Amino acid sequence: MNDKNRADSCCSDGHAGPALRLDEALATILATVAPVDGDETLNLRAALGRVLSADVVSRIDVPAHTNSAMDGYALAGSGLPSEGLCTFDVVGTSAAGRPWDHPVGDGQCVRIMTGAAMPDGADTVVMQENVERSGDTATIRAGELPGQHVRQAGEDIAAGAVALSAGSVLDPAELGMLASVGVGEVRVRRRPRVAFFSTGDELCGVGEVPGKGQIYDSNRYTLYGMLTRLDVDLLDLGVVRDEPDAVETVFAEAAARADAIVSSGGVSVGDADYVTDTLERSGAVNFWKVAMKPGRPLAFGRVGDALFFGLPGNPVSVMATFYQLVQPALDKLAGRPDAGPPMSLTAVTATALKKRPGRREFQRGVLTRGDDGRYTVRHTGEQGSGILSSMSRGNCFIVLPEDCGPVAEGQEVTVQPFRGFV
Ligand code: AMP
Ligand code: MG
Repeated sequence: MNDKNRADSCCSDGHAGPALRLDEALATILATVAPVDGDETLNLRAALGRVLSADVVSRIDVPAHTNSAMDGYALAGSGLPSEGLCTFDVVGTSAAGRPWDHPVGDGQCVRIMTGAAMPDGADTVVMQENVERSGDTATIRAGELPGQHVRQAGEDIAAGAVALSAGSVLDPAELGMLASVGVGEVRVRRRPRVAFFSTGDELCGVGEVPGKGQIYDSNRYTLYGMLTRLDVDLLDLGVVRDEPDAVETVFAEAAARADAIVSSGGVSVGDADYVTDTLERSGAVNFWKVAMKPGRPLAFGRVGDALFFGLPGNPVSVMATFYQLVQPALDKLAGRPDAGPPMSLTAVTATALKKRPGRREFQRGVLTRGDDGRYTVRHTGEQGSGILSSMSRGNCFIVLPEDCGPVAEGQEVTVQPFRGFV
């Protein structure tokens, strides 16, 4: 890391020294992560959201038959009038699933419906609105084009071609494509297994009565929610006390059973931060001061063969660091080709935003779309890293870059929507 990758830590919070830029932290993490090995066979519906591990080659053409794109009349384009009118005999009907099995000769046409197979001898469809039908004859004016309104067999997917390649994410369109080539089972990459736990002597579980100085463990619930929305299997290892033995034991268990470990708390510089103490000795974990707010202290590295993310303890910091750094890494671990920072868009801020240059800030905002289609955002008020209700009231992060200072009302800002997106 060179100096240009360090951001000034002018907003001192007890962590002396330069901080790592968020984009540098993400690049370092992504460069370390390789997709998990191993795959499994699933039926098509169960494979929704999964990553294909082998190419799917189509055994058939899609469409299977050359067919009509319109309701109308099928005929040979060579017989169309170049001027005036021409009358054709209507010799039959071709409906979807019920083709006309006889050839269409000169001066003849066939009534045809959308999706119905084109009869032999016909290569053109004239839409019914342009045809004057009288009994068994159809009259057509000049101006129609030979070959029009016909979908060719195999124009979507040709027999023998790769319908979907390994690495494709199976979203609804992909499930439909696989069904359209008659594939009912697919090979998909196995899901990464992610172990997660909270650290802290102050934590008590929901359903317990908090003792003096205790707080409920909320981070394990936000982590559960965020992880469940990803393509991973979960292993909840509960709450770990601030004791070296307890911390060591849970890391050994997590590393033996999971591909990745996500913890909250215990990575700052407090006296009881045994996560730092326990892992520092291994040398395989880095303790970063990331120049982001909320966030900042973050551990990243390996425990055994498992990737490890030690997130800060503050509830909003957990969510912000998860979305900016952990989610892209877990997407890459799952083999998703789209692994990277969350999607963003531009909005006009309707509220002035406080900001000091130094760190990249993720203020919580409420994004709305006006009647003119333009997006407006307003911040949710108090932005402390312990104010979890700001994540609930908000539907987006307002992303303020490192070097940016205060933002006036009416300025354009970058936002990352998170409600329903992440
Ligand atoms: P730490 O990083 O362990 O010093 O924690 C920073 C702050 O986050 C402290 O105020 C903790 O009480 C709080 N915190 C840590 N873990 C949790 C948790 N699991 N749920 C809610 N708050 C927590
Ligand atoms: Mg703690």
